[in-house]
Amino acid sequence: MKTSQVSCPTCKKKFEYYSSEYRPFCSEKCRLIDLGQWLTESYTVPVQKLSEEEALTLEHLVREKNSDRDSHDD
Ligand SMILES: [Zn+2]
Repeated sequence: MKTSQVSCPTCKKKFEYYSSEYRPFCSEKCRLIDLGQWLTESYTVPVQKLSEEEALTLEHLVREKNSDRDSHDD
């Protein structure tokens, strides 16, 4: 089997690209952190870590976005 080890853009940890549901991130947490950084850029507020509450808020936004896209595709 071919393996594709990549570094997570958020935490720089090596992981198997095709084994992650959240690629190019190693985990959902890293994906949310990246999204949080992207969102906060527009407010020019540096973000170090997401609180659990912030992560849940972002997760909710992502789900809304995904469900919106799904309804259009359907
Ligand atoms: Zn990561």
